[in-house]
Parts: sequence; C-alpha cells; structure tokens
Amino acid sequence: MTALDDRPVFRFAPSPNGHLHLGHAFSALLNHDLAAEVGGRLLLRIEDIDTVRCTPQLERDMLEDLAWLGVDWEQPVRRQSDHFDDYQAALQDLVDAGVAYPSALSRGDVKRIVEVEEAQGIEWPRDPDGAPLFPGRAYEDRAEDTDMLAWRLDVAVAKAHLGVETVTWTEEGAGPDGETGQLVLDPAVWGDFVLARRDTPTSYHLSVVIDDALQGVTHVVRGRDLFHATAVHILLQMLFGAPHPIYVHHDLILEPGSTRKLSKSRNDTSLRAMRAGGAMPSDIRRMVGL
Ligand code: GLU
Repeated sequence: MTALDDRPVFRFAPSPNGHLHLGHAFSALLNHDLAAEVGGRLLLRIEDIDTVRCTPQLERDMLEDLAWLGVDWEQPVRRQSDHFDDYQAALQDLVDAGVAYPSALSRGDVKRIVEVEEAQGIEWPRDPDGAPLFPGRAYEDRAEDTDMLAWRLDVAVAKAHLGVETVTWTEEGAGPDGETGQLVLDPAVWGDFVLARRDTPTSYHLSVVIDDALQGVTHVVRGRDLFHATAVHILLQMLFGAPHPIYVHHDLILEPGSTRKLSKSRNDTSLRAMRAGGAMPSDIRRMVGL
C-alpha cells in the first residue's frame, strides 16, 4: 500500500472461539461484496483476546472456511493476541488522561449494590442488553475485596474531557429500531465499560477501536447486535483522536423458526457441517440472501 492509496478499507473480524456459521458467512460475504463494489480493500482480523476459548486449530478452520466460501483478504492478517502491547499502551494513554480508573467491584458486589438500592425503591438504570449499569467510581469503596479486577472508562469524566454529551456517526445500515443516517447517541447507556481486565490486558471495545484506527478501516460492516456498542467505540475514537469509520450494521441470521440469532454452539448451521453435507459456496450465498 502506498500513501496515495485512498481506497476504502473494510474488515471482517471474527473470533475463533467456535466454527463459523451462516451469520458469519453473511457478514464476510457482505464485506467482500461491498469492498469489491467500491474498489476497496478487505482485511481480515482475528479477534482472539480470549486466549482460552480461541484456539489455533479453530483459527485454521476459520481461514479454511472463509477461503472455501470465496472470500479473499489482504495479507498480513492481524491477530489481536500478537498485539497486547498496543492495547496496553492505549490503555496507559487513557489512564494518563485521567479518564480510566482501576475497579475492584466484582459481579457479586454489583449485584448486591443494585439489590440494596432497588430494595429502597430506586429504579437502577439498565444497559441496552438489559443488564444493570455498573455503579461507577463512587461505589468502589463497597468492594468486598480490594484487589483490582478491571480498568474501566469513567464515561462522565471522558465526556466532560471531550466537552460532549453525545456522539455521532454515519450509519449506512440500520440499528434494531431502524436507526439510520446521521445518528446521535449517548455513550453513557453502557455505563463505565471495561477497558481491560486483570487476566486479559484489553477488552473487545478497546482492541476493536485501536485496530480499526491502526489498520485505517473506513467501513465497519458487522451484525446489528453490535449497533449499540458503536456509541462507546465512537467515544474511544474521540479520546484517541482517531477517525470515525462509516458503519453498516446488517441483519442477523436467525435460527430457523426462531427470533434468536445463530450461535457458534449450534453445529448444524456451521459452515463445516453444511459443507460436509454437500453444500457449495453458491448454496451458502443463496441461503443468506446474497
Ligand atoms: N469479533 C466480533 C465477533 O466475532 C466482531 C467485532 C466487530 O466486527 O467489530 O462478533
């Protein structure tokens, strides 16, 4: 690539913690087709920060499935577990800026705090997935054990630091309620999210933002289940002074006859199983509506 290369950059970023299924095939093929349509580049990123669930064998199987499907990507492939230093340095920048804090509150602590508050009739705020929001820095003294468990972003401090209340992005796909176009959202809906854990020196949110920036990604095409996470990704991009890609959140492929999205634990819809059953790449394309 030269400095004059201004082609759009797409990426497909699967986690090798199970076999790819029809949902991944849809996402990979859509990235591939959209990149081809606009003369863009397609990168592949292995999101394997969970070094227990992600294995080299699953990574090899994944690359083989993608190649079989007819998706081609540029070399080199970026494997996140090779770059923990990058995420550590980024985390340090946030710590130095005073927007990150070490947290000792465990899941059990949070549960207890929320129960106590709700017993007093206080309606505790929930995130878009319905989970109670992390209580925040003010509750740190309620931790049963004072060992640091995670670094969290102090979202209120980060917003004040940037002088913003909301974040905006360009959505060329759609959110769960049909949100599209120029969007304005409050990143506080997730509370003080995790940047890194004691046992994993990064988090999905931190590494995805660092990598999209380092890899010059201009178009993020991914499943609608990550739509709401985008608000915190934009906030992190602002803190790092990184550009904002265009986002395309696409439909999720659902389990047959259900409203649940496919999961990696269901083997019958894995690409491997379908291939073993005689399916061709063209069948997969047809099944995902491409
Ligand atoms: N690694 C994520 C997944 O497999 C995708 C992350 C992204 O595209 O931002 O669901």
